[in-house]
Amino acid sequence: MLYDNHGRLINYVRLAVTDRCNLRCFYCMPEEGIKFSPRLELLSYEEMERIIRVLADLGVDKVRITGGEPFVRRDLMPFIGKIAALEGIKKIALTTNGVLTAPHVKHFKDLKINSVNLSLDSLDPIRFFEVTRRDEFPAVMKTLDELLLHGIDVKINSVVMQGQNEQDLLALVEMTRQLPVSVRFIEEMPFNGSGQHYKEWVWDYRRIIAHIREQYPTLHKIPDPPHSTSSNYAIEGHLGTVGVIAAYSRTFCGTCNRIRLTPQGLLKTCLYDSGIFNVRDILRAGATDAELAALFQDAIGHRFKDGYEAEANRFMNGPVTESMATIGG
Ligand code: SAM
Ligand code: SF4
Repeated sequence: MLYDNHGRLINYVRLAVTDRCNLRCFYCMPEEGIKFSPRLELLSYEEMERIIRVLADLGVDKVRITGGEPFVRRDLMPFIGKIAALEGIKKIALTTNGVLTAPHVKHFKDLKINSVNLSLDSLDPIRFFEVTRRDEFPAVMKTLDELLLHGIDVKINSVVMQGQNEQDLLALVEMTRQLPVSVRFIEEMPFNGSGQHYKEWVWDYRRIIAHIREQYPTLHKIPDPPHSTSSNYAIEGHLGTVGVIAAYSRTFCGTCNRIRLTPQGLLKTCLYDSGIFNVRDILRAGATDAELAALFQDAIGHRFKDGYEAEANRFMNGPVTESMATIGG
């Protein structure tokens, strides 16, 4: 088992399989997109499989496939099949925008995918278009239907955007009345390709919960699963639940169990760090599995205490400006 220098168990890797995306959510990347990496700079599926095998041997048992949009990378499902077959990997989760996902859902359970995070910031097709700059609302709703039909545990991820989708919050909460989904509101972070955040930022997790409670007075705290980044709530009479992810306030660092690999192979031991080392370069230079494992152990043995310490030590890339599509959320 892998423990970091703060005694936190590390058993979860988030693997961003591509930086490319078929949406242009304005909190994630500019309209013209970001500077997408040339193909050869991305990790190949073979390299990713080898990295996950080495991590699984060290004790990692959960992998989240994310991106960019994972389904824009060709042959994603056969790749997930290989990851699912690795010894030690018990659980595969997926974060997707749902545009290309629906036809694949029927195969998810065979690939150990029992839980999917679906990004959806508005239930109004016009607002959806304004946020994502693409007209794909029906495709995303089709994916939601398929996920529920196949008994997949669904979490809806909604970023709360100041002055943009406040009016959508309550409609998303209302969804939990009839549907067994967990709607999780995420504090907006400056990972949008420009680094800009708000001069006076108001929608922190406290404000989000207070706003929901005004409309739903029976909103009450429920226990959070271990290592959960969301703080979770139920509303009387609702089938689903509501959560809030304090991604900017960073309230959950004390129980963080995850590391990240970017599509270019950068290892991040914190969402807010600028990368610890490039696994791709080390693999391509001919490192053995044992050498790679030793590097992972060393990086995990020197983790930052929390996202604030990581942000203060961004010696590689300066202040936060990356798009979330290159990190994986
Ligand atoms: N394309 C997939 C999707 O949208 O679900 C997976 C990758 S996306 C980068 C992963 C998650 O990051 C999404 O739920 C998205 O809402 C969230 N995200 C992106 N940019 C963000 C930002 N600036 N602040 C907070 N969350 C963000
Ligand atoms: Fe694409 Fe996901 Fe970023 Fe939206 S949040 S632009 S869907 S990677």
